[in-house]
Amino acid sequence: MVDFFRSLAAKLNIFPCPICRCGNGGGENFFCPDCEEKMHRITGPRCRACGGELNTALALCSTCLSEKKRPWSGAVSVYEYCDLTRRMIHRFKFFNHPELARPFGIAASERMRQEKEFKADVVVPIPLHFTRQYSRSFNQAALIAEVVAGELGIAFCNGLIRKKRTVHQSRLKKEARRKNPHGVFAVRYPDLLRGKCVLLIDDVFTTGATLSAATKELLKSGSGPVFVLTVARPPRY
Ligand SMILES: [Zn+2]
Ligand SMILES: [Zn+2]
Repeated sequence: MVDFFRSLAAKLNIFPCPICRCGNGGGENFFCPDCEEKMHRITGPRCRACGGELNTALALCSTCLSEKKRPWSGAVSVYEYCDLTRRMIHRFKFFNHPELARPFGIAASERMRQEKEFKADVVVPIPLHFTRQYSRSFNQAALIAEVVAGELGIAFCNGLIRKKRTVHQSRLKKEARRKNPHGVFAVRYPDLLRGKCVLLIDDVFTTGATLSAATKELLKSGSGPVFVLTVARPPRY
């Protein structure tokens, strides 16, 4: 019976895929199986510190082994930052498609449920500088974080502020990206976050420098351990 309704829905194109508009998607909530496959969901063993490809025999990747300790307690991503994922994240944030926060946020919550060691009392997004938020009209990380909080049944708190407008990470060279975010964030509601396990959300994990700066501010202000959840990341950085 379920199959009958599913094939009828597909024929009538009632719940089109948010990406390709085919009839096999889940309306506003899920991508179709073909698009899912092209975006490459991350599975299998990953680096414990950054969620990246494990290219050593240890629990950490070579980047995490050679860098200073990551300040968070764990990091995972949902999709590989491949061609389709990159285009969809661009469509989402630069071409005014806030509705894509739903399928991305639902996929991120599913990923979070698989991480048994991750704990979260509150979901906090990486903020945009207010001038950038004004020009884009929404913060993509906050929209995803709200969906994740709703799906997991935990609190959402817009607990960080971005004090300085930084150059887009994507426009910086690798070295500059690592240096870029110092002194950029401040904690807006330290009392609300004190002692709480924080699930920090962003759209893309690149060097981890932005997430690292935000995590350090949260820990400094007295939050509990911070876990990082991002929609996409390149296999290695
Ligand atoms: Zn599709
Ligand atoms: Zn790593």
